[in-house]
Amino acid sequence: MDEILQRLEEGVRRFQADVFPQQAEMFAQAVSEKQSPHTLFITCADSRIDPIALTSSSTGEIFVARNIGNMVPAYGEMLGGVSAVIEFAVSSLCVRHIVVCGHSHCGAMQGLLDPASVATMPTVESWLHNAHAALIVAETLHAESPKAQTSHQLIDILTEQNVLLQMQHLKTHPSVAGAIARRHLTISGWIYSIGTGEVRIASDGEQTFTLIGTKSPISV
Ligand SMILES: [Zn+2]
Repeated sequence: MDEILQRLEEGVRRFQADVFPQQAEMFAQAVSEKQSPHTLFITCADSRIDPIALTSSSTGEIFVARNIGNMVPAYGEMLGGVSAVIEFAVSSLCVRHIVVCGHSHCGAMQGLLDPASVATMPTVESWLHNAHAALIVAETLHAESPKAQTSHQLIDILTEQNVLLQMQHLKTHPSVAGAIARRHLTISGWIYSIGTGEVRIASDGEQTFTLIGTKSPISV
């Protein structure tokens, strides 16, 4: 039998035996009414990111959309899964906040910097066009940055600029623009450093990311 499927099935059995019974009441409550998550969390499909754990959230609190490079195609350009999730989350679920969360060691950002690495993946290559403007801005900022700041690597600048660009794209979606205008919705951009646990956040309108909590959780 398929070894990986076996491993997944074993995980389901452990969930049913150990986790579910302890939280059965919570799960029953969760389906007794319509879901009402307070946040739409848009992040990368990277397997090392766990939005629920990262935000210490519970079942039903976070509506999640994931794709390569945590991108949001501008409205009308590529109407598809991401656009539908946003519209549903804002118009039907009435989420109060949307997070666009980028992260360290992102393969999509590496692909943008090295197009040859994605040349054999035409779909990925096409998808990365959603971040092309961020690449241009990042290259400019990196070229203009003082020598003392060269430790700020191009990929780090690109990761930030990509999040800021996707926040702009987010606001081209009519449902989002309308909810922001009615003050029912706010948005923010996050950078999650997988290896250290650090999170930096930029509120809507900010161009810089501010460290949240401790610089390195493991040294506390
Ligand atoms: Zn990624």
